[in-house]
Amino acid sequence: MAKIGRICINTNKIKDAVIDTLFPKSCPLCDKTMGRGLRICRSCENKVHYIEEPKCKKCGKQLSEEEVEYCLDCRTAKHVFNTGIAAFLYDDTISKSIYRFKYHNRRTYAEYYGKAIAEKYEKQIRRWRADVIIPVPIHEKKRIKRGYNQAELIAEEIGKQLGIKVDGKYLERTVNTKPQKEMDKAGRKKNLENAFKIRYNIVEYKKIILVDDIYTTGSTIDGCARVLMEGGATEVNFISLSIGAGI
Ligand SMILES: [Zn+2]
Ligand SMILES: [Zn+2]
Repeated sequence: MAKIGRICINTNKIKDAVIDTLFPKSCPLCDKTMGRGLRICRSCENKVHYIEEPKCKKCGKQLSEEEVEYCLDCRTAKHVFNTGIAAFLYDDTISKSIYRFKYHNRRTYAEYYGKAIAEKYEKQIRRWRADVIIPVPIHEKKRIKRGYNQAELIAEEIGKQLGIKVDGKYLERTVNTKPQKEMDKAGRKKNLENAFKIRYNIVEYKKIILVDDIYTTGSTIDGCARVLMEGGATEVNFISLSIGAGI
């Protein structure tokens, strides 16, 4: 705040307005330049597809029928994690957005993703009473090449919004795993067995929230949850930015 005579001027607001004018923000969903003060552009407002009820009680996938409690995957697979929340349906809009976020250096999208998750799911997240939020790690080689771990950026924003500690160094990915989408279910599971390691053991991390960008079969979350539980965690829940539809 600057004081000129009797007039107080909020210099931060002016600075934000100047930055917005000089460097207009792009919409985190379609990447087009958008107006000042907006989180997503007007045309994307109707395209956002949050996961709604009925949801799978285990992984949070949206279900087509009210009658079932769990999705087909959770009815057949035994997961290591406790439960999970997913924010957006993995549709064309969000998959393209995540692709740019990951591979085209759109780190700024994390602010929108994290805020959207924190606002919509605050109650559920707080109910977990987590000691820490841990992002699903990517292999060090990948992190150096990309310059960042996309899940960590989302985790940081959620932690900032809700005042929960974030530890991006606790877990390590020791195996540079192949892209999951190229593999079948058994392949994914095998791919992720022993792919994670705890870097240093802190006993007070009992209740943990994992954060990732995409949830498919849950193998990645299970792989992380397994080592965390072996390391002394009692409860591992997860937040995923996006998830496919369940049956
Ligand atoms: Zn847009
Ligand atoms: Zn499920």
